Amino acid sequence: MSQTDFDIIVIGGGPGGYVAALRAAQLKLSVAVVEAQHLGGICLNWGCIPTKALLRASEINHLLHDLPAFGFKADGVSFDFQKIVGRSRAVSKQLSAGVAHLLKKAKVPVFTGYGKLDGTLANGKRKVSVAADGQSPISLTASHVILATGARARVLPGLEPDGQFVWSYKEALVPKAMPKRLVVIGSGAIGTEFASFYRNMGADVTLVEVAERILPVEDEEISQLARKAFEKQGMRVLTGAKIGDLQKTATGVKLPVTVNGKTETLEADTVISAVGIVGNVENIGLEGTKIQVDRTHVVTDALCRTAEPGVYAIGDLAGAPWLAHKASHEAVMCVEAIAGRSVHPIDPTKIPGCTYCRPQIASVGYTEAKARDAGYKVRVGKFPLLANGKALAMGEPDGLIKTVFDAATGELLGAHMIGAEVTEMIQGYVIARTGELTEAELAETIFPHPTISESMHEAVLAAYDGALHF
Ligand SMILES: Cc1cc2nc3c(=O)[nH]c(=O)nc-3n(C[C@H](O)[C@H](O)[C@H](O)COP(=O)(O)OP(=O)(O)OC[C@H]3O[C@@H](n4cnc5c(N)ncnc54)[C@H](O)[C@@H]3O)c2cc1C
Repeated sequence: MSQTDFDIIVIGGGPGGYVAALRAAQLKLSVAVVEAQHLGGICLNWGCIPTKALLRASEINHLLHDLPAFGFKADGVSFDFQKIVGRSRAVSKQLSAGVAHLLKKAKVPVFTGYGKLDGTLANGKRKVSVAADGQSPISLTASHVILATGARARVLPGLEPDGQFVWSYKEALVPKAMPKRLVVIGSGAIGTEFASFYRNMGADVTLVEVAERILPVEDEEISQLARKAFEKQGMRVLTGAKIGDLQKTATGVKLPVTVNGKTETLEADTVISAVGIVGNVENIGLEGTKIQVDRTHVVTDALCRTAEPGVYAIGDLAGAPWLAHKASHEAVMCVEAIAGRSVHPIDPTKIPGCTYCRPQIASVGYTEAKARDAGYKVRVGKFPLLANGKALAMGEPDGLIKTVFDAATGELLGAHMIGAEVTEMIQGYVIARTGELTEAELAETIFPHPTISESMHEAVLAAYDGALHF
């Protein structure tokens, strides 16, 4: 009979769950994963990875249309949209299979089905039941259960995804055809990435945001530059916008939108609703336990412990920021704590955030406004990519790097970037935040030439009036 009692059972096989299982196996704990649909979770199957595969295609489309600027001639460039979508699905499939392989190699059993907490044995062990279609439920036990069931798209009344006129991120990843006119509601990372993808593939896109600026969690200056760049690309951006009732017609949708008291009706083939996510807290056996839920997310302490001893929650289920690397980091921290290792709680100001639109956006730590609100006296440095040799050589001169330092200690409080390749570069500043580096240490750091990363150095120098190339 196969094993049914474990040190740890992880419910959910996304970047939270599968990483928890791999780390537990490394630490010689017996561990099992329960996954209902697809190993790799939303991230590999319907999130991070397939969106980046699509965005790569739209970046190539942009470059192809920019060929004359590089001295090339190419007539009649076209694309097969279904092949682009197919490639994105294939990349997801490859990575999901990769997770299955990693778990197999680590000898972690995977139970396919819906897992839920199912009471406690007299010895304190937790029971977990696994239900799969057409099969009798399996009962498992463990000393520790990690809930990692993730989240799904928030659905606003009247904007329920129907596969045709209204899409959530799932439908937007597997469209049957390229929409000609598209409205994207919500300008967080997900909405902005889809707006950027479809615009760069040639659709007429209107990005609608209820807040006063797009990408509202980013530094205000970065939001403004992003808006300017999107508008230059032909995207329409409406902020401070209140949407009315969506009307479906034979051929598309009509959406009344009010900005500054003026209402206009947007007409489009399709609407993408990207207005946030809700945690998968239902049907996982929380009823009758001490586990608390706050606005669809399981409440935990800094070490991912719930109010129920031996039960933990990580990743999207446990709340913001809803990022794969936060889920995986919590996974490792949670398992190491279970194994008795000394761990550090996560400092949210050290978690980077990236949006892979064109131009890319990346940030870590305090925005200038948040640093001031927190009582810091700040020194701010800025460096435009227009003054960077590599950016010019690449034909990517639009962008800005901004640093925020604590004027009292010189500690880097935050960094904010918009421009080519910034999602690859932000890690430099993340290391600086994690190591609590100061302006002096960053100024002494040698950056390779020619790279766009030199602008990161210049943005540090600029905060102390020492920028050399601007
Ligand atoms: C379009 C889009 C783009 C994104 N892009 C990025 C990005 O570029 N970078 C980034 O960091 N983040 C991105 N994210 C967010 C990222 O996908 C999530 O933060 C991440 O997947 C969270 O990981 P998780 O393990 O907590 O949950 P999930 O990845 O959601 O995994 C949860 C898993 O649990 C399973 N499950 C649920 N209930 C049960 C149950 N009862 N029993 C068994 N299994 C269950 C689900 O099937 C799923 O596989 C994106 C999200 C979306 C939607």
